[in-house]
Amino acid sequence: LGRNGTVILVKLRRLDTVRGTLGRDVCDALLAHVGRQLQSISSGLLAYVAQDTFAIGHPGSWDAEAVAALQDDILSRVTKLQQIGPHVIMIELRLAAATGVNNQEDLLRQAEIALLGGDPINRFEVGQVEAIEQRRQLDIDLRQAIGRGELHLVYQPQVDLVTREMVGVEALMRWTHPTHGPVPPAIFIPLAEETGYIAELGRWALAAACRDCAAWPSSILVGVNVSPAQLRLTDVLGDVAEALKSSGLPPDRLDLELTEGTFVETLAETQDLMQALRRMGVQVSLDDFGTGYSALSYLTTLPLDKIKIDQSFVKQIGTPADDALLHGIIDLCRRLGKKTLAEGIETDEQARQLAQWGCQTGQGYLFGKPADSIVITRMLAD
Ligand code: C2E
Ligand code: CA
Ligand code: CA
Ligand code: CA
Repeated sequence: LGRNGTVILVKLRRLDTVRGTLGRDVCDALLAHVGRQLQSISSGLLAYVAQDTFAIGHPGSWDAEAVAALQDDILSRVTKLQQIGPHVIMIELRLAAATGVNNQEDLLRQAEIALLGGDPINRFEVGQVEAIEQRRQLDIDLRQAIGRGELHLVYQPQVDLVTREMVGVEALMRWTHPTHGPVPPAIFIPLAEETGYIAELGRWALAAACRDCAAWPSSILVGVNVSPAQLRLTDVLGDVAEALKSSGLPPDRLDLELTEGTFVETLAETQDLMQALRRMGVQVSLDDFGTGYSALSYLTTLPLDKIKIDQSFVKQIGTPADDALLHGIIDLCRRLGKKTLAEGIETDEQARQLAQWGCQTGQGYLFGKPADSIVITRMLAD
């Protein structure tokens, strides 16, 4: 950049969510896609800095107006909804600039600080404003999705790790937007949690999952995800009772998946709710165990039937220190009388190792990807 320069950092927000839910390949493809779009910016040197950040450098120090114009250019070039294979991913960009520092390293460091929001002068919120606009439209569309029949549930098999027989399914929500196509849950679930619309979505999912499961053999359970926000906003107990009543599904075939976020927010209320659910005969599972706070005290104090071990643990199988921890957790659950289910099992080796450690059930691409209810019905009939 010579002796003086300007650098603008472009950061893709929430990329780890994309990676976590859609996988590394989709995440890499998304980055490459954005990189190509940024490349078309005139008079800029493009570099890829970190996991989710690009830098665009210019020789010479620029005034605020020139920087703002360039930022507008960047924002207009990067498509807000990117299509990667079957996925439509909403992009949120955060931009920050630094200018006039005569050392390249200092320039980059200053821009990085600006990106964190430390320096209000160097911080530009244009990207966020646009993203909010985008979210507003998506929210409007989402509120019509139920009525227009754009939502459906898919079901991922859960198997006994010893016999490999299907013992249950997890219901996962899918939204097919009329123009954008499939919108990943990693986008519309957090949006609905923020706007409160998750109350309606959750009620719909409970009813649909119970109805589908009622047609399957009595040995099959159905897991339904319940967001922390749902418990805050709506009478979950009433929704569950209604879903069971109208479907005729026996309560012990319904398994509610709660995350730790639920307990962190309102431990006492959640405990009451869990007790009430168990009195109804419904099962309660702790989802994503091993992410977030993962307080071991939850295992001993909460009335949980089952612990769902997060896929990040399963991915680490084979590293001695992680193996010891995972084995220990499974052992602890068994002693406490909690069932265990490992998520994200992709290889036979992982499945065998988990079974050997005493983990009873598992879920993952090895046994089946999420599939339509018709496919599950056929699998259960074979
Ligand atoms: P989750 O509850 O942890 O669901 C498991 C996620 O892991 C699913 O992603 C599933 O497709 C994916 N998965 C399953 N097996 C494998 C595997 O072997 N490898 C890999 N890499 N991934 C695997 P999905 O369907 O995209 O859902 C993402 C998240 O969205 C869910 O995470 C859940 O938190 C949320 N979600 C989905 N449906 C609902 C819903 O009806 N209500 C609520 N509140 N949240 C939902
Ligand atoms: Ca879940
Ligand atoms: Ca999970
Ligand atoms: Ca989750």
